[in-house]
Amino acid sequence: MRHPAIEPLLILQDREQSRRSLSQNLAAVPGDRARVQARIDAEKNAIEAAKAEWRELETSKKLLETEIGSAEDKLGKYRTQQSLVKKNDEYQALGHEIETAEAEISKLEERELEIMYEIDSSKERFAAAEKKLQDNIADHESKLAVLAEREASLTAELKAAEGTVEVARGDLEVKSLRLFDQIAPRTFPACVAVEGGKCGGCHLRVSGEAEGVARKGDELGRCDQCGRIIWWESS
Ligand SMILES: [Zn+2]
Repeated sequence: MRHPAIEPLLILQDREQSRRSLSQNLAAVPGDRARVQARIDAEKNAIEAAKAEWRELETSKKLLETEIGSAEDKLGKYRTQQSLVKKNDEYQALGHEIETAEAEISKLEERELEIMYEIDSSKERFAAAEKKLQDNIADHESKLAVLAEREASLTAELKAAEGTVEVARGDLEVKSLRLFDQIAPRTFPACVAVEGGKCGGCHLRVSGEAEGVARKGDELGRCDQCGRIIWWESS
């Protein structure tokens, strides 16, 4: 005969199982949300990084333009001076300055050209980063919306499950409930059938004595291997 507490224990266990799984699913939501948010942040950061790089290159280009401008001014002055000098050695010295200034300008212009190419590819990277976020944002947002919905429904389901667990607990007498509470936090399911002489929890053979207790049903039987509450299922 089955101990009278077995039936309500199995009901409690079943509801406790549902409550636990809801609770686990709910606990996973923040992690899922953080993963989506991390992708959004990474894509936004890539845009910001590309923008910063582009801006920096534009600044370098402006600086170079200023440098080129003053080098050209200098060159202009040397040319004017050269057209005014009479002495040959002064003329040659200025000629040397002019060559140096021209070389400097052409070096600066080469660098400017390089920077312009870099700006082009930087713009492309910026556009690509923006496009990536644009392409993905609807998907990210729908994922976040699904998660918010999931969180809300799981919260409601969990609350309801907690209520049904409480009801099931109320249907048990103190002694059986206390035993269940002792076992369940560590060993779940806490209440299992013995079939063919084996515990349905640890699958080890229970002693004849333990099986006898379960079979008789006067007291709650315990598996002598794992300590679970056992009930006898004919086989
Ligand atoms: Zn066992």
